[in-house]
Amino acid sequence: MQDFSASSPPKALDVKAFASENGALDGADALAHYPRLTADLLKLDDASPSRDSTKVHWNAEGQLLKTSLAAPQVWLHLGAQVTLPMTCQRCLNTVEMLVEAKRSFRFVSSEQEAEFEDDEAEEDLLVLTKLFDLHALVEDELLMAMPMVPMHDVCPEPQVFAAQDPDFELQEAAASRPFAVLASLKGDKH
Ligand SMILES: [Zn+2]
Repeated sequence: MQDFSASSPPKALDVKAFASENGALDGADALAHYPRLTADLLKLDDASPSRDSTKVHWNAEGQLLKTSLAAPQVWLHLGAQVTLPMTCQRCLNTVEMLVEAKRSFRFVSSEQEAEFEDDEAEEDLLVLTKLFDLHALVEDELLMAMPMVPMHDVCPEPQVFAAQDPDFELQEAAASRPFAVLASLKGDKH
């Protein structure tokens, strides 16, 4: 059994200390640790070759940015990538989508400060805590980066399967029936 815990983003990171040290972390974490990310995906069963190879790659860097203002700014630079098995919205086969997130966050000391500055700041603001959940942030960012309409660049040719499965064309014909049924229903309306 491989232990993935060392490769997971920390769930309780002292962000200010991390930034003060110019901290850098990275890892390749098991996709199974991201239930919100996998909720809508195709099920990865035990036989699936991508089950073990699918990893969430992530990296984080802390930075203390000196300004002319009183206190230096606390920054966190985050990157995350994962290849997710999704359903192609054109051919309904599996399509492996590369999902990438990259964002920088500035941490402020309170919720009020975040609200106050939010209108003017171009960057994303988060509230400073000694127990910051970096794991949840990685998952949030990847969720936001997921394609709304996953699709192959070029969908696989169904003929490839037809050679292996003589029933394929029949299945395909059946699969296209809902539209035919829909059309006939529309036709019956008047
Ligand atoms: Zn497709």
